Amino acid sequence: MGLRDAVEGAVGMAVRLGRGMGVTLKNALRPPVTVQYPEYKEATSEHFRMFPALVVDEATDKLKCTACMACVKACPVDCIWIKGARDRDSKPYPETFYVDMSWCMECALCVEACPFDALEMAPDYELAGYDVRDLLMDKDQLAAIKRPPKTPWTRRKASYLEGPDEW
Ligand code: SF4
Ligand code: SF4
Repeated sequence: MGLRDAVEGAVGMAVRLGRGMGVTLKNALRPPVTVQYPEYKEATSEHFRMFPALVVDEATDKLKCTACMACVKACPVDCIWIKGARDRDSKPYPETFYVDMSWCMECALCVEACPFDALEMAPDYELAGYDVRDLLMDKDQLAAIKRPPKTPWTRRKASYLEGPDEW
């Protein structure tokens, strides 16, 4: 290797090193993209969905669920348990309704299967805890999961049920 090759090699190495250091410097001075959760929270996307929640009929203040078991059959991981009963007017309702959120894989198949729009996917993601048994949610907890009255997900599903002209 001649002197000329050695100089060219050294210059090339210096250029590459300079480029690498430039990238490092640029990222070192960039504002951080992380936020200090839970003090700060990023807004979730409009279509974000997490866990199934029971829907309360605003007109009657009762659950829309009729304990028809369609969601139980649709759930691929068998994490829904329902015991049906009838009220004084012989209307069916879920005496007990449990979802084990530690099994739920947020697939929304139960929501799709429900013929009464009695379930919807809620955008709440803060269900972490220290005891896995706390993730077995009863119907009162499922009805209380924070959610907007009508999520875009539910609106889309309702439009679909009304027919293709509604799209
Ligand atoms: S979202 Fe999926 S896994 Fe979770 S309860 Fe519904 S069907 Fe089961
Ligand atoms: S499919 Fe709907 S109405 Fe039927 S049991 Fe499930 S939540 Fe209730």
